[in-house]
Amino acid sequence: MKKKNEPIRTCLGCGKKDYKKSLVRLVSVNDNIVVDEKKVLSGRGAYLCYNSDCLTRLSKNKRFLHALRINKSISLDGLFTVILEKIKNRSS
Ligand SMILES: [Zn+2]
Repeated sequence: MKKKNEPIRTCLGCGKKDYKKSLVRLVSVNDNIVVDEKKVLSGRGAYLCYNSDCLTRLSKNKRFLHALRINKSISLDGLFTVILEKIKNRSS
């Protein structure tokens, strides 16, 4: 069987490239960031490994806001809590 070409994306935490399906997709919606769980939302997306180290790096580096075209200061605590839950669920 021929292997399908899986789309590759780059993690914003560590810069590693991985298959799109094995990364968390974040999408900016109305100047807010949501986790695109079903990968159905349109709009600017950013990707992150299912890895708490990458999440920590991301939280320290606000450059990803730029990648998502977020120009105002927003609270990310809720978002990071959601992502952390997903990382935990995935690794358990
Ligand atoms: Zn990563």
